[in-house]
Amino acid sequence: MTGTLQPDFTSALSRLIEIPSVSSTLPELDMGNMPVIHELAGWLENMGFHCEIMMVPEAPQKANLIATLGSGPGGLVLAGHTDTVPYNANRWSFDPFKLEEANNRLYGLGTCDMKGFFALAMEAARAYLDQPFKAPLIILATADEESSMSGARALAAAGKPKARYAVIGEPTGMIPVYMHKGIMMERVSIIGQAGHSSNPALGRNAMETAHKVISEIMAFRSSLGIQYNNPGFDVPTPTVNLGCIHGGDNPNRICGSCRLDFDVRLLPGMDSQQLRHDLRQRLLPLAGQDGVQLALEAITPSIEPFDGQRDSPLIKTCEQLTGYGAESVAFTTEAPFFSKMGMDTVVLGPGDIDQAHQPDEYLALDRIQPTIDLLQGLIRKYCLT
Ligand SMILES: [Zn+2]
Repeated sequence: MTGTLQPDFTSALSRLIEIPSVSSTLPELDMGNMPVIHELAGWLENMGFHCEIMMVPEAPQKANLIATLGSGPGGLVLAGHTDTVPYNANRWSFDPFKLEEANNRLYGLGTCDMKGFFALAMEAARAYLDQPFKAPLIILATADEESSMSGARALAAAGKPKARYAVIGEPTGMIPVYMHKGIMMERVSIIGQAGHSSNPALGRNAMETAHKVISEIMAFRSSLGIQYNNPGFDVPTPTVNLGCIHGGDNPNRICGSCRLDFDVRLLPGMDSQQLRHDLRQRLLPLAGQDGVQLALEAITPSIEPFDGQRDSPLIKTCEQLTGYGAESVAFTTEAPFFSKMGMDTVVLGPGDIDQAHQPDEYLALDRIQPTIDLLQGLIRKYCLT
């Protein structure tokens, strides 16, 4: 490596991959992201960016970085998350924390999703460091996208950053993405009364209430499918998946408590709070009928749908620059937070979603130059002219 003041693309990515920054809803796997944030801030400061490190209130080991070059109205945000998902080392044929080139690919945890995007954004910006910026270029690095999205939440609460356009470099295979569904992860907890199975009157069976809850959730799903439809998605209706159920202990004991977890994938235009309210209206009466306690709660804060405009100026520009028509995707991102802050937002990045969250994650070498060209086209259009 020839000095780290402003490392080249490969050196920067290699260093970012070396620094573990797993985030997880499981506390035993969750790590802070400060070393990645400090590394990026050091490089970007040397490039002339003004760096603000914003601590995430509920997570003392985590922060966002807002690095700004130039000033003026408008501006362009190039955004990515600093965290990776957990990994299964014995399923990797490479070292997840060592950037390795093979098969015309760069392997490493986070190459595709999405530390690679920071190295590319810096490489793209480097060409213009001596030019007068008419609008700011902001490189934004967030915390906890893969787990709680607490980084994006903190940004939204602070109303930062302020810019007109935002590109989130999540893996879309270079295709501009203008909308995705939202997600709610919910839990129904039922507390009944355990007792000897020989006499049902000795208890209140939580599993039997769960049976009614499941029927009610499936009826709810059917009604959502009739009410909402968006042909812009491969699966055009909202979905509800019954994910896991835990309850009881023995065949000869009345089930005293039962817990059911499920998700709801929301279409643009659907509101998670309204949906939770509607579900409660359906489920709470079952508690009264069966004499049990029943609660419906969010397991994690919901992610709203990303409801961008198919023909927004940024989407059109990205279609021109990439040669690909805009599409929807099935995964969630931080886009709804940026969109709500008033930014024309696109999800567009060099990796492929098939390689994200997988062993032997990689970024194909032939995506590097097209991404630099794309980002330089955006910087010229939105920051320099
Ligand atoms: Zn990602």
